[in-house]
Amino acid sequence: AAASHVPQRRRVASRAMSAEAPPGVAPADEPAGLKAAAVAEMVEEATVWCAVHGLVVGDRAEPRSGTVPGVGLVHAPFSLFPTRFPASFWKQACELAPIFNDLVDRVSLDGKFLQDSLSKTKQVDDFTSRLLDIHAKMMEVNKKEDIRLGLHRSDYMLDSETNSLLQIELNTISSSFPGLGSLVSELHRTLLNQYGKALGLDSKRIPRNWAATQFAEALGRAWAEFNNKSAVIMMVVQPEERNMYDQYWLINHLKESHGVKTIRKTLAQVEAEGQILPDGTLVVDGQTVSVVYFRAGYSPNDYPSEVEWGARLLMEQSSAIKCPSISYHLVGTKKIQQELAKPNVLERFLDNKEDIAKLQKCFAGLWSLDNEEIVKSAIEKPDLFVLKPQREGGGNNIYGHDLRETLVKLHKEQGEALAAYILMQRIFPRASLTHLVQGGVCFEDLTISELGIYGAYLRNKDKVVMNNQCGYLMRTKVSSSNEGGVAAGFAVLDSIILT
Ligand code: ADP
Ligand code: MG
Ligand code: MG
Repeated sequence: AAASHVPQRRRVASRAMSAEAPPGVAPADEPAGLKAAAVAEMVEEATVWCAVHGLVVGDRAEPRSGTVPGVGLVHAPFSLFPTRFPASFWKQACELAPIFNDLVDRVSLDGKFLQDSLSKTKQVDDFTSRLLDIHAKMMEVNKKEDIRLGLHRSDYMLDSETNSLLQIELNTISSSFPGLGSLVSELHRTLLNQYGKALGLDSKRIPRNWAATQFAEALGRAWAEFNNKSAVIMMVVQPEERNMYDQYWLINHLKESHGVKTIRKTLAQVEAEGQILPDGTLVVDGQTVSVVYFRAGYSPNDYPSEVEWGARLLMEQSSAIKCPSISYHLVGTKKIQQELAKPNVLERFLDNKEDIAKLQKCFAGLWSLDNEEIVKSAIEKPDLFVLKPQREGGGNNIYGHDLRETLVKLHKEQGEALAAYILMQRIFPRASLTHLVQGGVCFEDLTISELGIYGAYLRNKDKVVMNNQCGYLMRTKVSSSNEGGVAAGFAVLDSIILT
């Protein structure tokens, strides 16, 4: 899923323009009111800022960049300027965060709802089935999680047809970019402090973004609730991770502001080095683990063998705080998103009518595929829908022509295979011209954006320790590309400027 989707882009400015211009790329056009030389100066300013402030990712060109910290770094892809976003929608999205936090917690406690809602999916989707098996095991032994920590990100797009803020999805596992996302807001503030007057953009209208420090605070407070000074936080990571600096930002805050040590372990390492003591304590590599923070484990690729599944089960069985627990993880599936959007379902979990109305207002059309009528409409007009399997991490959805073919095929087979998917109303954000910077090169292209709002929730039995909105992540992608995903190479990191 590299940047191969990128259509012919117009290169507007780069330091090495003459030397490196790829074949087929037209020479720069000047963006409205912006001279190429001015853009080049700002791009250089920005890329230097990234380098000296740690707004970096591992470089694909260096094979060790995903395993050896400090080797093969490149600035994260970013947009040169923040994207305009109406203040009213910003406020609406922020207000939703604590409500979604609360909802996830309530739904997670209803094990039967999760099992029942996912029962058909279970029959056709091996990955979801394995997660449900772990969940069922925990239900059998009546496992209770007294301390519950959620670090979520709810993603939205502005639908231009209805002029409304609609939710794309709610991530309850491995919500990425709290570290780098907050840095992009700082980068944009710095640039606008310098150039904003000339550009007509006021840096004060970029909302403060404390995602990194607030996620670290939530993890630190969870550690404190666990109440064992010698315990560590364990971040579960993929064996290769080019987005490691996003993670190290949290690790760094935890150490410097909370005095908490974090270890990073792969699922295979947890299996090899981990054990549960008779009292339920999780010990990995000789260290007591207070919080297991998953930055891996959300995709079938993370479980190449039984070893990794063994590790997942081991952690779930322990008394360590899991972020997320298996229940929280399941609440974040696309299927549960669709079930919660059905009439009268939210009412089962929430009491406050205003909260329910606020949530419903941001739900796009969502359907299960046992709805014959909607399947028919989607086959007729595939461009108005997105077909989604139970997967995370970008690049899994099906659109347009492929959507039609897939539906026709699955429908003919008459099997249960349709239950692996949900259908979603396609959202159409208004496109705008943006300067995108990747690998030190600036391109101008038509883009659309997706705003993610981070939320942190921590409770210990009846005491809600934290239930906050925690900053944001704007991701901007070329409008001709269906999928988002910065790590997948589809999008750039961005921030917002309120209008
Ligand atoms: P994942 O869990 O893999 O991130 P998403 O539901 O977020 O799955 O879908 C991935 C990307 O696909 C989104 O970031 C967005 O760009 C695009 N997308 C998803 N749902 C829709 C939709 N309903 N309308 C338009 N684009 C969508
Ligand atoms: Mg997701
Ligand atoms: Mg997503």
